[in-house]
Amino acid sequence: MKAVAIFPATREVKLIDVPEPRITRPTDVRVRILEIGICGTDKELCQFKYGTPPAGADHLVIGHESLGEVVEIGAAVTRVAVGDLVVPMVRRPCEHADCVACSAGRQDFCYTNDYTERGIKERDGFMTEWVVDDERYMNVVPRALRDVGVLVEPLTIAEKALAQVRQIQQRLPWACPTTPGRRSDETDQCHRAVVLGAGPVGLLGAMALRADGFETFVYSRGGADSPRGQVVRAIGATFIEAETTTVAELPGRVGAIDVVYEATGASPFAFEVLAGLGTNGIFVFTGVPGRRGPVQVDTDLLMRNLVLQNQVVLGSVNASRADFEAAIRDLALFQERWPQALAALITGRFPIEAFAGQLLAQPADAIKNVFALS
Ligand SMILES: [Zn+2]
Ligand SMILES: [Zn+2]
Repeated sequence: MKAVAIFPATREVKLIDVPEPRITRPTDVRVRILEIGICGTDKELCQFKYGTPPAGADHLVIGHESLGEVVEIGAAVTRVAVGDLVVPMVRRPCEHADCVACSAGRQDFCYTNDYTERGIKERDGFMTEWVVDDERYMNVVPRALRDVGVLVEPLTIAEKALAQVRQIQQRLPWACPTTPGRRSDETDQCHRAVVLGAGPVGLLGAMALRADGFETFVYSRGGADSPRGQVVRAIGATFIEAETTTVAELPGRVGAIDVVYEATGASPFAFEVLAGLGTNGIFVFTGVPGRRGPVQVDTDLLMRNLVLQNQVVLGSVNASRADFEAAIRDLALFQERWPQALAALITGRFPIEAFAGQLLAQPADAIKNVFALS
């Protein structure tokens, strides 16, 4: 079967032929991959910034955002059935018995860093035709989400972040005065969130924040009338152009910022925005910047704000099963509320043979391009 793999030692990215995986354990599930999302992580893997092949192998099959269909199940499988659409999780637990996170099924909080990740770290990924994995890593997606299910995995980043925001804000009176709790209606937006960046992670994060009742602002370059800007408007959020509004002007424009959801990976910019976070606010980092050397930051100002305004800075990576389930629920909600904006996130479908143009170049105006196999 076909697979896109990186060869770190020789710095090559190739479409290769690999043996089809077979079910070997009673809890295994065999999945036919339908779509694979292409993201910044894949592009960085193709630039050999990270990415570790499985032990003993010279290559790593990449791809971690996927949607597949179950075609065969082992004798002991109960969670999924043949014909189900599924999105497999990415991270697998470390093998240290004393890692309480992995032992509890929360490898997204692995203490040892010896976890593995399909398509990223020591395990082959999903940019291929068939995948076999344990049923415990499969998340069933309703048929109605066939066309957008490949967005589940990138949406889990926002779901995990939001779950933590809700948990942390229980430290204070956080409920909306009129309708406490989640899913407030369009007119009751008692908390304000700023999303940094209008890439797929930022736009999916903005949708999740809107669905959670936040008055939401997306701060990005690129123009309010661009396709990204149109998505922002369609979901009832506000696009703020970085070209015309400075970071210092942002709180004046938005009001007190309760949550910043960072989705750019640009660290000096993010720390500038942190200085404008509101009282009791949370700043969530999701980007992973390259290391470009030190820059100057006003640490006195940031530390004073953090203490005197009860602020929280949170980093978040990967996702639990509950976050996948939340992403699947929210995707159904987005589809109901904003079908066109949701569909607009997928800007192109390509055969896997087009891997070079999609992975090694930056296709203009793409939000989320995918490889379609069916
Ligand atoms: Zn990704
Ligand atoms: Zn662990």
